[in-house]
Amino acid sequence: MTGNQAPSPGRLAIVGAGVIGMSCAWRAARAGWGVDVVDPAPASGASWVAGGMLAAVTEAWPGEEALLELDSASLRGWPEFAAELTEAAGAPAGLRTEGTVVVAAAAGDRAELDDVAGFLARLGRQVDRLTARELRALEPAIGPDVRGGLSVPGDLAVDNRALLSALRAAGEKAGARFVTRRAARVTDGPAVELDDGSTLAADAVLVAAGAHSASLHPALDGLIRPVKGEILRLRHRRGALPPPGRTVRAVVDGRPVYLVPRDGGGLVLGATQYEAGFDTEPMVAGVRDLLRDAERVVPAIAEYALVETAAGLRPGSPDNLPLLGWLGPKAPGVMVATGHHRNGMLLAPLTAGAVLALLSGDPVPQPVAAADPARLLTETTVRR
Ligand SMILES: Cc1cc2nc3c(=O)[nH]c(=O)nc-3n(C[C@H](O)[C@H](O)[C@H](O)COP(=O)(O)OP(=O)(O)OC[C@H]3O[C@@H](n4cnc5c(N)ncnc54)[C@H](O)[C@@H]3O)c2cc1C
Repeated sequence: MTGNQAPSPGRLAIVGAGVIGMSCAWRAARAGWGVDVVDPAPASGASWVAGGMLAAVTEAWPGEEALLELDSASLRGWPEFAAELTEAAGAPAGLRTEGTVVVAAAAGDRAELDDVAGFLARLGRQVDRLTARELRALEPAIGPDVRGGLSVPGDLAVDNRALLSALRAAGEKAGARFVTRRAARVTDGPAVELDDGSTLAADAVLVAAGAHSASLHPALDGLIRPVKGEILRLRHRRGALPPPGRTVRAVVDGRPVYLVPRDGGGLVLGATQYEAGFDTEPMVAGVRDLLRDAERVVPAIAEYALVETAAGLRPGSPDNLPLLGWLGPKAPGVMVATGHHRNGMLLAPLTAGAVLALLSGDPVPQPVAAADPARLLTETTVRR
């Protein structure tokens, strides 16, 4: 044991049962760890509301190349992760492999599309230009305002709610135990203090409480912030044009919007993004913008049912990269996996693999080094 490494496999306590905590729980329990997952309301956080895009390429931004490497590595692992999870859970993991198209409505938005295409081409990513005719041949639901786009066949999607229930089932079958209590804090040692005053001791503790992670350990103070996002769920109604088969991403008058299909005629429309503390109430302006912009791209949604409005909190980090690793020698046995911001669904397989490697003292996959929390931890953040 190095102070950073727990006896392997021993007991692991995970705080947070979102996609990150439950992916790690399943993988660790399968590898022989005795796993406790602490969460007063499993699967109720950002993971429950997420759109479910697995968008390594179409989420890429100039200046965020380290994130693109992480995202791409995780996307490569998704098909195997989903297949193993489906088998382990005895229920579908929810992966959809139809791919993604990116479109622009107004002339100004087409310039932005050109920038994205140029950036991705320079990185050698597969993106194919589509004329309006080609686009509508692929996706007849796309409306006449859209004059062209890009096909990104490698960007996939997952039904986030199917995924969460498969992760819980697979975790429990592998022996993980769910403790439906709130963690008051994580102590070095390591242990989790619960809201009823009891303490859960373990050989290692993983903080994976999404946007709430910063309050759990002093080393994380100020490093994770909530980034609010509103999102809608629609359902196709008889007589209306069917929804697209692929994920459709668009920029409409400078605002991004996406439409992610689900089985059975479901369509997820997302998402706004702004900072409003821990507020999870959907606001009228966000819902209005999403509906108006999405209707420009797929006019038929005007005849769909609006079945849910929701808002969730992305766990944001100072540099948009996750925090993934041990907290260091001053916090022995405590590890963190959070700050996945817009890409927690996408990054789940890579995160779970990395956590398992770290627990066993094995090297982590190369791009994960950029997510080492040591880059942000200072003498002041690791207060003893
Ligand atoms: C509108 C929206 C759309 C998104 N779309 C996508 C997308 O298309 N693709 C993608 O990859 N990502 C997307 N994301 C981001 C993704 O949802 C997050 O990155 C991911 O869900 C983070 O997972 P998590 O497990 O870290 O956190 P969460 O899912 O938030 O889970 C944290 C868990 O911790 C628990 N918890 C909190 N405090 C405590 C405590 N004190 N004790 C015990 N438990 C606690 C909560 O109850 C919760 O269950 C989206 C997010 C939003 C908000």
